[in-house]
Amino acid sequence: MCGIIGIISEREVKPRIIEGLKRLEYRGYDSAGMAVLERDSGRIRIHKKKGRVDELLPILTQWDFVSVSGIGHTRWATHGEPNDINAHPHSDTHSRVAIVHNGIIENYKTLKETLISNGYLFSSRTDSEVIAHLIEHKLESNHDPLTAFREAIQELDGSFAIVALFAGDPDHLYAVRKDSPLIIGVGNGETFLASDIPAFLPWTDRAIYLEDYEIVRISPKGAEVFDLNGKPVNKETVHIPWTLSQAEKGGYKHFMLKEIFEQGRVIA
Ligand code: GLU
Repeated sequence: MCGIIGIISEREVKPRIIEGLKRLEYRGYDSAGMAVLERDSGRIRIHKKKGRVDELLPILTQWDFVSVSGIGHTRWATHGEPNDINAHPHSDTHSRVAIVHNGIIENYKTLKETLISNGYLFSSRTDSEVIAHLIEHKLESNHDPLTAFREAIQELDGSFAIVALFAGDPDHLYAVRKDSPLIIGVGNGETFLASDIPAFLPWTDRAIYLEDYEIVRISPKGAEVFDLNGKPVNKETVHIPWTLSQAEKGGYKHFMLKEIFEQGRVIA
């Protein structure tokens, strides 16, 4: 289980996705990647590499388009060796959606077999790629991104924090969590999603904590949260009282203490 950042903003996001990922580096990882939406064409662009987050930096000079929405990931491989192809984000057959995923999709084999028999083409050996194709499959039933995302999530078993970016939908990112951390950061004219607070703390200290199976749609104006049936859920925005270095330790004085107090949740 490693790092996730998602940003949707009124201003450029590309360098900040890499910056956010760098603040999650302390968790350890084997590869890193990002997907952004080209604002003018609505097209998804993906760059991912085995190795350090810094390997992503050269793309910033090559990508000369504006992006106001994007997602980033640091991977700790569970299914499929660490390489460029297995790195996240993953996309569907027609590049309609890009996803990042932390955790394990336990029923991915059955889902993958069904999707392949329906003509979907897989490129990686990960469990995570099924999420992208499953969402594409739902989009093909004429669903809007929120409904497609919500319906796809209902078919997943396992643990996950997922953030999705849709082609042609520059105003939103979609997310969900189950047994894997994911927090919303509420900024000014921008909204964040991250697996840990340090990723967005330089830009906002206001956060919304999520429960399992809450479906999230963020825009630069804020966040909407729904239950699995699509019913809106009211959420409280809280102030994070920590500095960046305190946040990296989850509010504890030392990493050792953080790890000790995390044991209960880890074992559960
Ligand atoms: N199970 C996924 C994979 O192997 C996600 C791993 C992670 O949480 O980084 O790609």
